Amino acid sequence: MQFIDLQKQYRTLKKEIDSAIQNVLSDANFISGAQVKQLENELAAYCGTKYCLTCANGTDALTLALRALDVKENDAVFVPSFTFFASAETPALEDATCIFVDVDERTFNMDSQKLEKAIMQVKQEGKLNLKCIITVDLFGLPANYPEIRKIADKYGMKIIEDGAQGFGGSINGKKACSFGDISTTSFFPAKPLGCYGDGGAIFTDNKDDYDLMCSLAVHGKGSFKYDNVRIGYNSRLDTLQAAILLPKLKAFREYELKARNFIARKYTEALKDSFVTPFVPSGFESSWAQYTLILPNETDRTVIQQTLKDKGIPTMVYYPKPMHKQTVFSDYSFNLQDLKTSERLSNHVLSIPMHPYLTDEEIDRVVSALKTVK
Ligand SMILES: *Cc1c(COP(=O)(O)O)cnc(C)c1O
Repeated sequence: MQFIDLQKQYRTLKKEIDSAIQNVLSDANFISGAQVKQLENELAAYCGTKYCLTCANGTDALTLALRALDVKENDAVFVPSFTFFASAETPALEDATCIFVDVDERTFNMDSQKLEKAIMQVKQEGKLNLKCIITVDLFGLPANYPEIRKIADKYGMKIIEDGAQGFGGSINGKKACSFGDISTTSFFPAKPLGCYGDGGAIFTDNKDDYDLMCSLAVHGKGSFKYDNVRIGYNSRLDTLQAAILLPKLKAFREYELKARNFIARKYTEALKDSFVTPFVPSGFESSWAQYTLILPNETDRTVIQQTLKDKGIPTMVYYPKPMHKQTVFSDYSFNLQDLKTSERLSNHVLSIPMHPYLTDEEIDRVVSALKTVK
């Protein structure tokens, strides 16, 4: 059994993907081919934003968004502590100050009350500009945007939605990657919508920010490529990756997202009496980048992982170390007493196999293996 079965997905979509790749090879339009624009149009339509710009990866997407919002030294950027490193690495790279915020123990996403508390504290200290909030749609579940948007407006701050894991999720029908002033996603192969290498995208309704990010992604170009008006990056999605993503997006829209939700419901139904299963608030829909249980303690986790491994069932720990415990942020001292949920989760979470091609037989094997260790 595979944790995320990309081979099975390829076997299912082989005809479409092979011919998409072959077309790029025949046309030799490897950079900025027509497939890139087509994909951007389809992504914007799917997420319900005016603009979509693809780029080299989800980390670059965050960097381009931060540059568009002019995030810099002396800016406070509020980031959940329980996330993948890139959410905190990118504001740090712009010399901004990361203010880590604890997460909600049920959704794994930024705790809006603790966010406001942290904002008020930074405001009172008066040393940093209240610049932006990087929300993360962890494990596929959109962050609490109804609450976080109110807080952002109240303090005059922008939201960057890190939707690297969130693509496909929604709140009352409104799609993830449309909640930020600028939203980003990743097409890393294991994400809900993945390509066959690195890739990413940025979404916004703001034309000025979109234009600026288009320029930044291609060496700070002005009216044409060899007119350079600012310092930028080389961050594009290859035509090959765009061509691969088109049939994958179609499958995602037509049945993969439904299959993910169907499998998650089966897991929850079977495991909810023995484990703490993922919580999805009413009106929210997850794209199930991960299906993550909370175990009673850390020793159990090691034992359960080994027992499942012996039965050929892979599991993963996302994430074993919250941001405020990372070596690189070791001189960080803000609000440490308030980050206990992130610390506890990092010791207790366990993600089990989740992908749209899991069979009933595989789901049963995972469930019964988990029930024997319980
Ligand atoms: C994967 C991920 C990223 C980075 O995406 P890459 O394409 O690997 O650069 C950023 N944020 C989160 C939350 C992620 O899971």
